[in-house]
Amino acid sequence: MQVIAPLPPRSYRSFGRRGIDRIAQLRRLSTEQRTAIKAVAAVLPFRVNEYILDDLIRWEDVPDDPIFRLTFPQPEMLPAPDLTRMTGLVTRGAGDDELKAAAREIQHRMNPHPGRQMELNVPRINGRRLRGMQHKYRETVLFFPASGQTCHAYCTYCFRWAQFVGVQELRFASRGVDDLLHYLRLHPEVTDVLITGGDPMIMRTPVLARYVEPLLERRPGGLTNIRIGTKAPASWPYRFLTDPDADDLLRLLARIVASGFHLAVMVHYSHPRELDTPVARHAVRRILDTGAVLRSQAPVVRHVNADAGVWASMWRKQVQLGVVPYYMFVARDTGPRDYFEVPLAEGYEIFTDAYRQVSGLARTVRGPSMSATPGKVLVDGITTVNGERVFVLKILQARDPSWVGRVFFARFDPEATWLNQLRPPAGKERFFFDPDEL
Ligand SMILES: *Cc1c(COP(=O)(O)O)cnc(C)c1O
Ligand code: SF4
Repeated sequence: MQVIAPLPPRSYRSFGRRGIDRIAQLRRLSTEQRTAIKAVAAVLPFRVNEYILDDLIRWEDVPDDPIFRLTFPQPEMLPAPDLTRMTGLVTRGAGDDELKAAAREIQHRMNPHPGRQMELNVPRINGRRLRGMQHKYRETVLFFPASGQTCHAYCTYCFRWAQFVGVQELRFASRGVDDLLHYLRLHPEVTDVLITGGDPMIMRTPVLARYVEPLLERRPGGLTNIRIGTKAPASWPYRFLTDPDADDLLRLLARIVASGFHLAVMVHYSHPRELDTPVARHAVRRILDTGAVLRSQAPVVRHVNADAGVWASMWRKQVQLGVVPYYMFVARDTGPRDYFEVPLAEGYEIFTDAYRQVSGLARTVRGPSMSATPGKVLVDGITTVNGERVFVLKILQARDPSWVGRVFFARFDPEATWLNQLRPPAGKERFFFDPDEL
């Protein structure tokens, strides 16, 4: 058995926009860097904590450091005229109201509602729309607890960024679990509930327990699997170690398993460095000791992890620690998309190159996958058919279950970054689904 030395506790301390001056001072950022961060952080969400500042970011590599790019708003994330305007406001000491008004306008130009996720797939009971739930795929219901809609730190590429800056209201989140129980009873085809956010692990244990325990006691419908989506093992491992309610949290997780449910902690790791610290490894160990399975997922994004070696190293470390690689995603069309985007062809090369470097134990991973309106679409190959270069695409998940597993072709385009930019191959008028749905 591996012996793990006791770790000193650490209390959670985070910095938002108002803490930028303090960070800049401590980390010796230039005045220019500080102004740019403040300007962009008025538009895009910003939160970082001391663990990320002290243990994850390599300050000697800033601004190129991947964890710095992952966490700190970068000047290139805004179109040049917007950056000039916002830095101008920051430099002359504009008040919050003025900053906010300027930011709102920019935010609304950054596609804050990608894929119309908030309107689509809202489940109903007798015509009444249920808050804080989405039912897109037959087997799985997404559940958004109201108090789990923030995170221990914000990822600059987050597709839910709009909710963190208040452009998108949290009307979406759910305060109780009664509707969920009722809905699951009416829909026995649902085997999985995915508790998601934000980051549900931001909730104190008794709050999380209020959502989870009724599921264990009432065992509604056909529910067998409980998933919790989180980045806490990467962004705040102390949540599972020395937070005052960490042991209670682990006991709650163990109770889920003891009640006969499969518990999948769907963990978001963006970079192998997030797995290197003793606390990060210890957190994984403690979660696994509850009987939970950890499965990992992340998007492939420029400046953070657009590199096959980075993914291969991340998957190897995960397998060694007992985390199962699950998905590599394509980043969605929202927020500072131009800054992060990786063309599908390049994403495919990164995935394939990394996949070739790891053992079969890591090849549980699938990707690159686009979560588009009709479902999850995998870029499964680039090949030549009838003399034409094509993408081989495969539906991994779909609203219509009969689509799952379907393979189709699209004309190869080295620059395309999303499904809606792809065209059917020569001689075909259309894809088998309605492209307007994309
Ligand atoms: C990916 C995803 C799921 C889960 O799909 P699995 O392939 O079963 O992991 C559920 N809901 C939405 C909206 C998703 O994007
Ligand atoms: S942890 Fe997840 S929800 Fe939170 S900012 Fe990062 S990507 Fe977004």
